Amino acid sequence: MEFIDLSREIYHRTPAHPSHPPVIVTVWNDHSEKKVAGNTVFTSKSLTLSLSDHSTTHVDAPVHFDPRPGALSIDQVPLEKFYTEAICLDLSHVPLKHAVTVPEMEDALARSGQEIRKGDTVLLWMATNERLWGTPRYPHDFPGLAVESVHWLADRGIGMFGVEAVSPAPEGELNFQAHMACAERGITHMECLCNLDKLVGRGRFRFIGFPLKIRGGTGSPIRAVAVFE
Ligand SMILES: [Zn+2]
Repeated sequence: MEFIDLSREIYHRTPAHPSHPPVIVTVWNDHSEKKVAGNTVFTSKSLTLSLSDHSTTHVDAPVHFDPRPGALSIDQVPLEKFYTEAICLDLSHVPLKHAVTVPEMEDALARSGQEIRKGDTVLLWMATNERLWGTPRYPHDFPGLAVESVHWLADRGIGMFGVEAVSPAPEGELNFQAHMACAERGITHMECLCNLDKLVGRGRFRFIGFPLKIRGGTGSPIRAVAVFE
């Protein structure tokens, strides 16, 4: 069995979406602090994390983008949604800031030699990290989906899709539209994935990306993994 780690690291001030607070990591205690009980001296180290529920590699809960009462928070979304079959489409050729069209999605699916099945997770490699990671343009200049392409995925019965960028669609109005389309169609998406290039051309795989059980959470960091049996 082969595991491919699709999650970014969580670390102090890791790049974040401009509308979310930064990740702050501090040392709570370390091995310089000795605890004595009887004849035993013990030391330990632990950290404190302050982070948005949309920090680093994460999944959006419906309540994030759906204002209707009853929209599910992350602790209410069935675990089955995060343990699915999956494919990854190669959209690495699209220009930065580009909104991927339906014909481009159809072309990428045809080139993959795969089909989209009901309940699938569909990952979209747009070579965002390769082109933007570590630069000030990372949270702004990424490509993403045109709203029609979000509907195209929903029409094929997916459960969720995932991208490397901080948003599923290019910054601004298109990003708002993509989130609202997810609400309308009952699907969701993951952001800030990595290593999607390692999935291209490898067919169908198992996707695992369980969220933390955050009461009322509007999303959650996930440890996203592709598993090839
Ligand atoms: Zn989102």
